[in-house]
Amino acid sequence: MPPSEFASPAGSAGRRCAPIHSIADIIRARTTEFRLADQEGPTIFDKIISKEIPAAIIYEDDTCLAFKDISPQAPTHFLVIPKARQGLTRLSKATEEHKAVLGHLLYTAQAVAKEQGLGDGFRVVVNDGPAGCQSVYHLHLHVIGGRQLTWPPG
Ligand code: AMP
Repeated sequence: MPPSEFASPAGSAGRRCAPIHSIADIIRARTTEFRLADQEGPTIFDKIISKEIPAAIIYEDDTCLAFKDISPQAPTHFLVIPKARQGLTRLSKATEEHKAVLGHLLYTAQAVAKEQGLGDGFRVVVNDGPAGCQSVYHLHLHVIGGRQLTWPPG
């Protein structure tokens, strides 16, 4: 894949990822992100789970939490996260043992979407790693809706 496909397109709307211009930049970015991802340190989402910091929680069970995104990209935008990260800093870290929790997150995403009035449709997004523009290294599903979405995404 040419390096340009990893870079944020110039002039595209929304949050920008750091522009990446060369193979060396890609390797450097990935090495840094893998190191960060493997540190297993807490993220802001751990503080939301422990209720240390407030969030607009819309669903909770033993396995997962759903709360409104602080920077919504549509009239409805919430995140679904596993309460126990268990190595799932990002989707690409998933192993066989994660299948049940991954299914639970996806099932919950659609159930809460319907509860939130998104019966006409919605989008579920998982940003993975630097090329996917991931910023918080605790797996999360974005659920976005409440307006007509377009394709392709940026
Ligand atoms: P990503 O870039 O895919 O890792 O998404 C992380 C998301 O977390 C972004 O959409 C942020 O707006 C959202 N976010 C970060 N901090 C908070 C917070 N304190 N409460 C709710 N959402 C947050």
